[in-house]
Amino acid sequence: MKAVVCTGTADGGTSVVDVPDPVPAAGEVVVEVEACGLCGSDVHAVEHGQVGEGQILGHELSGRVVEVARDVDAGLVGTAVAVNPIGGCGRCAACVRGLPFRCSTPNVGITRPGAFAQYVAAPAAQLVPVPGDVPLEWVADAEPLAVALAAVDLARVRPGDAVLVYGVGPIGLNVIVALQLAGVERIVAAGRSPGRRAAAAAVGATDVIDTREVSVREHARAEGLSYAAVLECSAAPSAVPDAMAVLGPGGVCVVVALAPHEVPVALFPLLSEGQALVGSCAFDTHHYRAAVDHIVTGRAGTHTLVSEEVDLVSTPDALQRLRTPGELVRILTRPQWAAVPV
Ligand SMILES: [Zn+2]
Ligand SMILES: [Zn+2]
Repeated sequence: MKAVVCTGTADGGTSVVDVPDPVPAAGEVVVEVEACGLCGSDVHAVEHGQVGEGQILGHELSGRVVEVARDVDAGLVGTAVAVNPIGGCGRCAACVRGLPFRCSTPNVGITRPGAFAQYVAAPAAQLVPVPGDVPLEWVADAEPLAVALAAVDLARVRPGDAVLVYGVGPIGLNVIVALQLAGVERIVAAGRSPGRRAAAAAVGATDVIDTREVSVREHARAEGLSYAAVLECSAAPSAVPDAMAVLGPGGVCVVVALAPHEVPVALFPLLSEGQALVGSCAFDTHHYRAAVDHIVTGRAGTHTLVSEEVDLVSTPDALQRLRTPGELVRILTRPQWAAVPV
């Protein structure tokens, strides 16, 4: 089959090559990949040479079961599925605490071969069936939406709250969708890219701030807002200190963006105002299932965030372009499209 593999070089390239078709191990199926999202974490891992030579990334996927292991129900063949990339034994301390991504079980497209390929093997237990009348590519968005649902869970928001979403990349935009699903009425989004700010308004932000013109502190002061929660999706060095400054009593700052830096945090308000600062990474199984359900029932219109679809051959270039995304929001690769010889 054709797959996008990492070249393993320090500058981080990928190329399309022929590799052996995957074979399902015990308990597994092979999925013909219909769509797979190009995630910021893929771009980051490739750019920083964090992936080995030959690794196949791609963890935001949907497709159709084409083969099953001998111990898996053969009736699954032909089923349209969303694939939860996160493994998890369900028994270890990490799994029991709702953090299966910390389990030693490998994750599809992260620590085992992923879906930037025509086919991918995955445990049958990680499949979520998708009704036939739903465009199968829509549920490739279940993974980033699950990330957002998990983060919003930690934010402890209630209907009627005002919440700030700091950063309007793909995760920030999914967080806006998740906040709407949670009944939050005032959703303030802060970002820099005009295209992404427009997307924030389109998916339901009530206020959209251009942080190059007005800071979140100025905006909160002018509007008399004290936030019940801030979801930090920007990785900007000033984001957490800004967030803590605009949180109301009992407010929660949830760090969702992967950021390498350290920031000063005033501890006294955490104590005297009963605030919390918490990190959110990935999601638990129930978040993924809920995300698929929100998409297939039409409650979450996350497919509107897709700005471009590409075939496998164009995927290495698309990963490069996402290094400086500008107006681009989300790209899906469609591995079944025109198998152009490489
Ligand atoms: Zn992702
Ligand atoms: Zn486990």
